[in-house]
Amino acid sequence: MAPPQKTLDALVVGAGPAGIGTALALSAVDDLVLGVVDRGQIGQTFLDWPEAQTFLTPSFTGNGFGATDLNAVHPRTSPAFSLGADYLTGPQYAKYLRSVVKHFRVPVLSDTDVTVVEPADGGFEVETSRGPVRARAVVWAGGEFADRPDARLSGVSLADHSATLEAWEQRDGRVIVIGGYESGIDIACHHVEHGATVTTVDGESPWDADSGSDPSFRLAPRSRMRLNAATATGRLTLTGAHAGSIKRDGAEWIVSLDNGTRIRADSRPIAATGFGPGLGPVADLFARRPDGWPELDEDDQSTITPGLFLSGPAIRHGGLKFCFVYKFRQRFAHIARVIGESQGKDCGALEEWRSAGMLTDDLSCCGVECAC
Ligand SMILES: Cc1cc2nc3c(=O)[nH]c(=O)nc-3n(C[C@H](O)[C@H](O)[C@H](O)COP(=O)(O)OP(=O)(O)OC[C@H]3O[C@@H](n4cnc5c(N)ncnc54)[C@H](O)[C@@H]3O)c2cc1C
Repeated sequence: MAPPQKTLDALVVGAGPAGIGTALALSAVDDLVLGVVDRGQIGQTFLDWPEAQTFLTPSFTGNGFGATDLNAVHPRTSPAFSLGADYLTGPQYAKYLRSVVKHFRVPVLSDTDVTVVEPADGGFEVETSRGPVRARAVVWAGGEFADRPDARLSGVSLADHSATLEAWEQRDGRVIVIGGYESGIDIACHHVEHGATVTTVDGESPWDADSGSDPSFRLAPRSRMRLNAATATGRLTLTGAHAGSIKRDGAEWIVSLDNGTRIRADSRPIAATGFGPGLGPVADLFARRPDGWPELDEDDQSTITPGLFLSGPAIRHGGLKFCFVYKFRQRFAHIARVIGESQGKDCGALEEWRSAGMLTDDLSCCGVECAC
């Protein structure tokens, strides 16, 4: 007879910053039985980042003065402190995540792909590549990096998405980048810095956006500085028009814009057109907002599947986007408390997250603007 299957109090899917951070908060809930699985390694997305890519949010050890390192996932840690670096590379951040897992003894099972999540008996039956798991609550922290929806333009298969390694390889001559928000400016500056002549096209002209002080809606200071330096070379053109189609013409690629012009490149255009919510096998367990992002209740729980939570950059509440670590980490301790309290457990230790400025449970406070 097969041994009875143990039921976890909470299963976290994904060992990136959202999954590890939520697991650390869940570990602080008294007597909670936790598991974390990832189909790759801890910090797999960061191991997969192109070599030249770095964080745009700086790390700095301000923890002792109530300003926890922007990229930290636990109140008592700081990547700047442990790595001695400010703008981290992907491998550096993966190293930080591994060290946090080791120090706090987070139970992570790598190389474990979650293929099916099904609500059952007030909890969930989860199929993984290592066999079934039962859990009372599931936190989906599968990330966005692997979810790259095709841009709505004809000939899109002729472009390389900005998250692929190909898009970051050396390109000579004329380069076209479609999309001008953070990813687009990042890769455009990268190719200008390596000698190419780049045209970035975006009908919204995000490089001009001056809509408040939230970096989710305007370029980060580092991107702005790199953009100024790239523009000063004379080899970067920013064009406020939408790309409509891509065609191949001999050794060249032609991108037609909605302002009637056609521009030519000497290599495949780069689509810096963003990421989707990356819900994988739980996609049908979330209702969708009119903009396509998952509908969440005020506890970041699915509105149609109680007990299923979302952690990470896909969190949206009204007009608020939680797309950076320093934003989505504000919800780790809240999610942990909701799960812990629903199972009658003591969650007092989570106050450490609040003292460190790492807990936002009142969403009305996030829209503050800077005076100057
Ligand atoms: C190009 C880029 C640059 C960014 N730069 C910054 C920045 O500078 N600062 C910042 O704060 N934020 C940045 N972000 C936003 C955000 O911090 C990152 O997207 C971050 O990786 C999100 O963390 P996560 O834990 O949600 O997802 P991930 O780090 O992607 O982790 C998800 C994990 O889930 C695993 N997984 C997925 N599906 C399954 C499955 N079915 N079964 C098992 N495991 C699964 C994956 O293997 C992966 O390890 C950036 C995002 C992108 C795309």
